[in-house]
Amino acid sequence: KYLTAWEIGLLGDEMEVVTAEAVPLSVPAGSSAVLVKNLYISCDPYLRNRMIRHEVVTSHGVMKVISSGHLDFKADDLVWGMTGWEEYTLINNPESLFKINYPEFPLSNYTGVLGMHGRTAYVGFFEMSKPKKSEYVFVSLACGAIGQIVGQLAKIKNCYVVDSAGFDEKVNLLKTKFGFDDAFNYKEPDLEAALKRCFPEGIDIDFENVGGAILNAVLPNMRLGGRITMCGMISQYHLERPDGVRNLMYIIMKRLRMEGFVIFDSITVYRQFEEEMAGYLREGKVTYVEDIVQGLDAAPAPLIGIYNGRNVGK
Ligand code: NDP
Repeated sequence: KYLTAWEIGLLGDEMEVVTAEAVPLSVPAGSSAVLVKNLYISCDPYLRNRMIRHEVVTSHGVMKVISSGHLDFKADDLVWGMTGWEEYTLINNPESLFKINYPEFPLSNYTGVLGMHGRTAYVGFFEMSKPKKSEYVFVSLACGAIGQIVGQLAKIKNCYVVDSAGFDEKVNLLKTKFGFDDAFNYKEPDLEAALKRCFPEGIDIDFENVGGAILNAVLPNMRLGGRITMCGMISQYHLERPDGVRNLMYIIMKRLRMEGFVIFDSITVYRQFEEEMAGYLREGKVTYVEDIVQGLDAAPAPLIGIYNGRNVGK
């Protein structure tokens, strides 16, 4: 059984769950591929741009090895990496897989805080944003997979942290569950005023996940010499014409540095990140909220739900 994109368009995407002919549950003789059973798959904003008609949707996942032609893997190993939205996947490049080194955490964590999203937050905040103690940090989309971690890393660094989300329940969660200093609903009519209220002295670091109107309101609220780390622009991905950000002149006036990054270019060693993040989780310095649905038949709904805020947490 697998999930495929049937039609992709600006007016809406169509997906279908297909039941294929049964395949032998072993690796072809002489091949160095690995056959895995998919246990968890990750639902992400970027998937929309990767969906190809009539092909299995792919994303990060957590898998159990069923059969292996590769010396580094054997049956029953738990691994994570890129896989398909299907029950079983034949992985032809097993070098891309990571072993699960800390099975004491929920396996689903490897589709998030201990996987690509955690590493994006870690690299994007510590390496790109270069935080200093007590700085003022703003994180948009803070109830999502990456934002919730960035906010907590900023608290570990003793920064003053304010976050935004699109529903009051999420805003409440940001303040109570994660202990951020303040949070607001970005659907407020005057975003510039909301940021001014939360940051009377201005923002040192903006960790940008949304773009558009939020980014536009952030720019005049930045402090001199502030940094804007461009991680994502979820508000723009499905627009035919991206929203104009009119306040770019503040980059000059406020001597800002604005820099984008893509996690796949990062040279940070995965093991170093994984060990540090596992330590934060064990000590309770980072908590992680996940939103899980069960079964491939239920999978299209959360993928669409990402674009209207139905998910709470990863
Ligand atoms: P999530 O899937 O966790 O975020 C989904 C949330 O985004 C929704 O619940 C909703 O929250 C919010 N959202 C959806 N549409 C809009 C909109 N139009 N305006 C504002 N908010 C919206 O996201 P991730 O944490 O996985 O990703 C965060 C960002 O990081 C994304 O932009 C993503 O593309 C990017 N990214 C970048 C990487 C890199 O290497 N640079 C790697 C991976 C991701 P709410 O209810 O609050 O509106």
